[in-house]
Amino acid sequence: MMLLDGKAAQDAIKQKLAKEVQKRTRPPVLAIIQIGDRAESNAYIERKKKFGETIGVTVSVLRLQDDVAESVIEGHIQRLNQEIEVDGILLQLPIPKELDRTRLIDGILPAKDVDGLTSTQIASRGRGELRAVIPATARGVLELLTFYNIPISGKKIAVLGRSALVGTPTADVLRQNGGLVTVCHSKTPNTQEISLESDIIVVAIGRPKFLTHKYVRSDGTQTIVDVGINAVTETGEERLEDQVLLNSSDKAQGNKLVGDVDFEDVQSIVHSISPVPGGVGPMTVTALFENLLEISKKHQEY
Ligand code: NAP
Repeated sequence: MMLLDGKAAQDAIKQKLAKEVQKRTRPPVLAIIQIGDRAESNAYIERKKKFGETIGVTVSVLRLQDDVAESVIEGHIQRLNQEIEVDGILLQLPIPKELDRTRLIDGILPAKDVDGLTSTQIASRGRGELRAVIPATARGVLELLTFYNIPISGKKIAVLGRSALVGTPTADVLRQNGGLVTVCHSKTPNTQEISLESDIIVVAIGRPKFLTHKYVRSDGTQTIVDVGINAVTETGEERLEDQVLLNSSDKAQGNKLVGDVDFEDVQSIVHSISPVPGGVGPMTVTALFENLLEISKKHQEY
């Protein structure tokens, strides 16, 4: 079995990105807007900040209260749109349910939409435009496969999950790269059959250890990419919402992160598999900064 180690891939790509930043006349700037104080979001933002700093990108975080008025957020987005030195703007998701996510994201200038989630970027991907920004997780999946030389073109690929943020853009980008993609969702009656027939299975459903050997051939030819990030107790029975439990005190309490794939159950029968943590997660962060460098290239002169 080959481990699709996202940390190793990230380290390799990091060097390339740092060199690219050094060529710029000024450091690219990513502005992150966070609404509320979710532990999970804090952890993700911390990782983005840390990675950005190691490659020389400035990451600024604007933290707003979770009861902030939508008009105030829109005002901040407009201001960041106009600030010449801000290259990319990201609204950290999820945001409180009372807020209109689509409307707020669409307030971001498409040229600064580093996450590729504005309607303009979605439409431009739909038209297959090369300059379209690919959402970070989808790009992370693509780059993880590419880094480990897993062929995509002409391969049967099952994508489990169809969310606008993860499943759908991942399916789109794999299709654009020649994959024969079948998307499965919660109402798909034959997900097991589709998974068994596929060369690559990408799992993004948010259900701890869902994918077991029943979905995987035992011939050692399939590749599994586990996008899921689920915080569970030691017994794995209870799902803990809204927490990313990776610090030492959490581990001491027996809490841990697991993917949507039962890694232990399938690892001996697959060709290759990404772990959780350490698989798609680091690649998502990497992809975000690849997006930033690409869009900022258009804003900056060398
Ligand atoms: P989501 O919005 O809850 O979407 C889940 C999707 O899975 C839905 O499309 C749902 O179908 C589908 N689904 C649920 N049960 C299924 C089943 N039994 N078989 C097939 N499909 C099923 O979640 P999300 O935002 O896409 O996130 C998915 C997972 O990825 C989560 O664990 C999340 O934490 C993780 N994630 C990881 C990263 C990363 O960087 N690694 C980034 C973002 C998210 P319906 O549409 O029919 O409801």
